[in-house]
Amino acid sequence: MKPLGPIPSGYTAIDGVLAIAGRKATELVAEAGVTPLFVYSRDLLTARVAALRAAMPERLSIHYAVKANPYGPLLKHMLGLVDGFDIASGGELSIVRAAGVDPARVSFAGPGKRDAELEAAIAAGATLNLESEGEASRALAIAERVGVRPRLAIRVNPDFDLKGSGMKMGGGAKPFGIDAERVPALARKLLAAGADWQGFHIFAGSQALSADAIIETQGQTLALAARLAEETGVPLPKCNLGGGFGIPYFPGDEPVDIGAVGEALAERFADLPEVLRDTAFCIELGRYLVGEAGVYLATVVDRKESHGEIYLVTDGGLHHQLAASGNFGTVVRRNYPSAIATRFDAPVEEEASIVGCLCTPLDRLADKGGFPWADVGDIVAIFCAGAYGASASPAMFLGQGPAAEMLV
Ligand SMILES: *Cc1c(COP(=O)(O)O)cnc(C)c1O
Repeated sequence: MKPLGPIPSGYTAIDGVLAIAGRKATELVAEAGVTPLFVYSRDLLTARVAALRAAMPERLSIHYAVKANPYGPLLKHMLGLVDGFDIASGGELSIVRAAGVDPARVSFAGPGKRDAELEAAIAAGATLNLESEGEASRALAIAERVGVRPRLAIRVNPDFDLKGSGMKMGGGAKPFGIDAERVPALARKLLAAGADWQGFHIFAGSQALSADAIIETQGQTLALAARLAEETGVPLPKCNLGGGFGIPYFPGDEPVDIGAVGEALAERFADLPEVLRDTAFCIELGRYLVGEAGVYLATVVDRKESHGEIYLVTDGGLHHQLAASGNFGTVVRRNYPSAIATRFDAPVEEEASIVGCLCTPLDRLADKGGFPWADVGDIVAIFCAGAYGASASPAMFLGQGPAAEMLV
C-alpha cells in the first residue's frame, strides 16, 4: 500500500459522510446536480487568512496570487480578506475586475505581456511589474499615448532562489524579471520618465514548507531590495517580497511554521536600513491561501479488478486535477490526500487505485492507496484541490469539459 498525503484540518464526518463547511458532500453534489465538482469553503478561506494575519507583522500586506484559483465567487470572498491581488495576464485582469476588485489593488506580473494587455492595465490604473527593458519601453510609450501616468514596478530576477521550493523562479538565467544588476539603471529611467514608481517585486520560488528556508530568502530579499534602492538613489516606496509558502500535499509533509516566519520578519522590520524605512511591504500567496480550502469530488462509475489490483474508475480525472495525477511539475509521483467521501470514517479495508475516465495511463488520482471498500455510486474526495485544479488542468482533453465549482 502506498501512503496518502495528510488530509487538511477542518474536514469532519457527518453520518459517515465527508462534511465540507458543515455540509455533507452528498448534499453538495445533489445541490450541484453533477460530479465532478470542486467545492471551496468560505470558512476555511477566512480562517486561513486570519491565522496568517495574526502571525505576520501588521506592516505586511497580504496579496492573493489569482492564478492559484480565479473562480469568481471565491475571488469575491477573497476581496474582503486580502489587501491586493496579483495577476499574470490580461485575462486575469478581466476576471478580477468582473469580481469587483479595484484595479488600484492589482499588480500584474508575468513575461510576454502583449501591448493590448499593457494598455488595459495602464488605463485601469493597475501596477505593472515589468519583466524586461523592452516591456518597460512599450509600457512607457503606451502610457504616453493613452495619457495616463503609469504605475510601474520592476520585477527583479534575484541572484538566489527559495531553497526546497517546488518550483524555482529565481537564481540564474530566467524568463522572469530583470537581472538584479540591471535594475537600478532601469528604475532611474522610469523615474526620469515621470512614471508613478511602485518599487520592486522579488519572487524567489514556490511551495516551500521550511520556515528556515523562507526566513533566509526573506532576509536575502530585503538585503537585495535595500541594495537596489540605494543604487537607484531614492527611498523604496513598495516591495513585494514574493511568497512561496507551501502546503502539505504528500505523506510526511509538515505545514509551514508561520509563527516563526512572522517573528523573523518582525525583527527585520524593526531594523530596516534608511532606504526601506517607509517602504510598504507585501507578500503574494496563492496555494497557501486557497489550496487546503478546496476538495474535488468525483463519482465512482466502475469498480474493476486487473491482475489482482482494484481500480475505482471515476467520472473525474487529470483534466481537472493535473497536479494530483503527478503531471504538473512533479518529479516523483506521490499521492495527494484522498478518501472515499461517502465512507469517510470507515476503516481501511483494501488497497485500491482511484483513476479517472481518460484513456491514458497518466490519469491516476491515487495510486494503490488504502481505502474502505467502495463501489459504483460512491463519491471520492481529492483534497488540496483549492489551488491549481480547475484552471490549471486541460479540461478539454478528450472532449471532457470543465468540472462544476461551488463556494459554500
Ligand atoms: C505562481 C506565482 C505565485 C503564487 O504561487 P503559490 O505557490 O501558489 O503561492 C506568486 N507570485 C508569482 C510571481 C507567481 O508566478
